[in-house]
Amino acid sequence: MELKDFTINQVHDGLKNKKFTCVELTSAYLKRINERNDEINAFITIDETGALHQAKEVDDKIASGQALNPLEGVPCAIKDNILVEGLPATAGSKILEGYTAIYNATVVSRLKDAGAVILGKTNMDEFAMGGSGETSYFGPTKNPLNTSLVPGGSSSGSAAAVADDQCVFALGSDTGGSIRQPAAFCGLVGLKPTYGRVSRYGLMAMASSFDQIGPLTKTAEDAALVMNVISGEDNRDSTSIDREDDFTADLNQPLKGLVFGLPKEFFIKGMDQNVERVVLEAINRLRDLGASVKEISLPHTKYALSTYYILMPAEVSSNLARFDGVRYGSRVEAGNLEDMYLKNRSLGFGDEAKRRIMLGTYVLSSGYADEYYNRAQKLRTLITNDFLSEFKDVDAILTPTTPHSAFAIGEKFDDPLTMYLSDIFTVSANVAGLPALSFNAGEANGLPVGLQVIGRHYEESLLLRVASRFKDHL
Ligand code: GLN
Repeated sequence: MELKDFTINQVHDGLKNKKFTCVELTSAYLKRINERNDEINAFITIDETGALHQAKEVDDKIASGQALNPLEGVPCAIKDNILVEGLPATAGSKILEGYTAIYNATVVSRLKDAGAVILGKTNMDEFAMGGSGETSYFGPTKNPLNTSLVPGGSSSGSAAAVADDQCVFALGSDTGGSIRQPAAFCGLVGLKPTYGRVSRYGLMAMASSFDQIGPLTKTAEDAALVMNVISGEDNRDSTSIDREDDFTADLNQPLKGLVFGLPKEFFIKGMDQNVERVVLEAINRLRDLGASVKEISLPHTKYALSTYYILMPAEVSSNLARFDGVRYGSRVEAGNLEDMYLKNRSLGFGDEAKRRIMLGTYVLSSGYADEYYNRAQKLRTLITNDFLSEFKDVDAILTPTTPHSAFAIGEKFDDPLTMYLSDIFTVSANVAGLPALSFNAGEANGLPVGLQVIGRHYEESLLLRVASRFKDHL
């Protein structure tokens, strides 16, 4: 079966017109995963039995003549920090090796209720900390477009799996860019929803005030279809928002009359010139489609990265405290309680997790909290206000997703600061809780380039529309 670039609607056409059964389709994806996983390493867990069982149920439903829900029978993959009952959940960490999830994350319950077929759990940077997929205890994921390159991270396996036709869509999580950056590096659509749009219940927390789950897909339409299922209020997540939207409704609306802002602080020296050129050409195409573009300023952007890299580790240090070998995490025995904690955490966490726990503990410690944590909180408000004030005049903001295209495995691994700098364009949306989407704007140096669209709170539909209209007019 030819799986190349299958979209959700194409899968449905095939199922409805009996070109294949859901079991055949699912088997074809499982075969592809098994053939490719040694090289690409996109999956940590492959759930053949569960996937085929779900597929059989879909076939039974089709045989009984019932109509299919929009995601019914569609093979997908879930980032390994999102719980799927009965499957291992490691978040890419040694400390959770052997842990099996005892309940479903809300997004997973919603996907299962909608009939989506879950193929397995995808590889990722440890506890979602990273931008390359290299900090996983289970080894790096490779970019299927060129296996000497990283696929981006931290949702490395989710992006690689979609780009490599190992599933139709995947869920990732985005704390500072982990859906959008790998989407950009692999030529996909990646959406980080508005903070609170998608329930975080059952997502292992990295930095709770930044984290959001979202889709990685081949098309904007697929992302909209997935959002329709996973979003919405959840009484198990008090930050989730009571709003229902049909994300597919505006996909075909023209762009005419929309005003886009180009923040001058996001078009900076040091960017790869070819990437910038592709981004500017793509912006011109949006102009051709009827949108107008104007320069804007988000003056506190220069503090965004430092704000993120103070607040995020602070939350990380608190969230990762539960992995102590008692409440969560594998237990290594030691002579006394303190040694047991120390041993568990020093053997269980990788270097990046330890680095952030130490940084976070430092910025929260008495004497330093005022200087770092509290100041960063104030900056968070200023950065958010910059956006809110520009959104009075513009409908959405366009930026490159990343300053460069996919880089070589190993290139930045030993240099955390350079790795952190790659997040420069993505972190602001998380700092401000805004929805942001990356779509493929073209190619530079033979590799995909992402264009990022940042919207007002709750305006995911507009972002999806921009990506959809752009692609329709290529
Ligand atoms: N690359 C960023 C970081 O390392 C983003 C991570 C994420 O969004 N989970 O923190």
